Amino acid sequence: MTYDRDDLLKLLHLLDVTATDEIDCEEFLHRAAGFVERYDPDDGEARIAPEHAALVQHLKVCPECLEELRALYAALRAED
Ligand SMILES: [Zn+2]
Repeated sequence: MTYDRDDLLKLLHLLDVTATDEIDCEEFLHRAAGFVERYDPDDGEARIAPEHAALVQHLKVCPECLEELRALYAALRAED
């Protein structure tokens, strides 16, 4: 397999932000319901429990899941 320069830069960026205990999107969404009750997407990592570190890490590398989480968060807030 060969990479062009852009691919390599993307790969290097991912390596830079990827932790060892990373999870995939399926795992993230599976755990998102419990996570979102305690996480404010606009409040960074202020209230993150240790068991949620992997989910926060996933958000840093996955804009799609961040969007999902924001939508979920907004929906929960709307019910208050
Ligand atoms: Zn994801």
